[in-house]
Amino acid sequence: MDAENLSKRLAAVAAQVPKGSRLADIGSDHAYLPAHLLMTGQIDFAVAGEVVVGPYENMLKEVAHRGLSDHLIPRLANGLDAIKLDDKIDTVVIAGMGGTLITKILDAGQDKLVNVKRLILQPNVGEEGLRKWLANQHFEIVHEEILEEDDHVYEIIVATPTLNPVAYNHREALFGPLLIQKGGAIFKQKWQKELARDQYAIEQMQGAKSVPVKRLSDYQARVKLIEEVLENDNRN
Ligand code: SAM
Repeated sequence: MDAENLSKRLAAVAAQVPKGSRLADIGSDHAYLPAHLLMTGQIDFAVAGEVVVGPYENMLKEVAHRGLSDHLIPRLANGLDAIKLDDKIDTVVIAGMGGTLITKILDAGQDKLVNVKRLILQPNVGEEGLRKWLANQHFEIVHEEILEEDDHVYEIIVATPTLNPVAYNHREALFGPLLIQKGGAIFKQKWQKELARDQYAIEQMQGAKSVPVKRLSDYQARVKLIEEVLENDNRN
């Protein structure tokens, strides 16, 4: 993969960036995503943030190699500290990390989100907590996608700020308020795998010398919920 040929996952993230956005890509690593969007004329300003020196140096190399230094600003910074108010960032991408870390980054940098119109998030795991955070902070999920690449299933969550109250029940937070409506083969595949994993965990707990009662009943409730959703999903 490089800035000319994004992975399927990053291409799907890129497709959610509106034309002309002022983008911040947090945890950008090689900065392939903003470089790609600049090279294809989709945007003309981006900040690429990185907290680790190695990936930050990768970004510097990419910016120099592509001659993008007037348009792509690499910053070594933790989370949304990479954004300055003068940047007038309106779109933030955080991709390829756990949902807990994405939530932490958003929560710690709330002052940088006041003018942001679109969050494009691609958590590798831990989507449920992230969706709950979005609802609590008045971000409405306007688009969700699930895709498979190299035997991994990825979810993309796009959210926009709203003045209206937002609430997702347990089922919506876990499966995705829009993904649960769409269903489909990859959705089914993901949850069949999760179901098998949880059922195995239940067997292990039931066979333990000291049964962890609370944990066991949480897993049993989750299995019941997944079974219900899979039974109701006849799409593919
Ligand atoms: N966003 C790219 C993608 O989706 O392909 C790179 C994902 S890479 C697995 C995650 C990157 O996030 C790493 O380069 C890591 O150093 C960076 N990162 C982790 N925590 C961060 C934080 N708090 N602030 C900025 N970057 C962070």
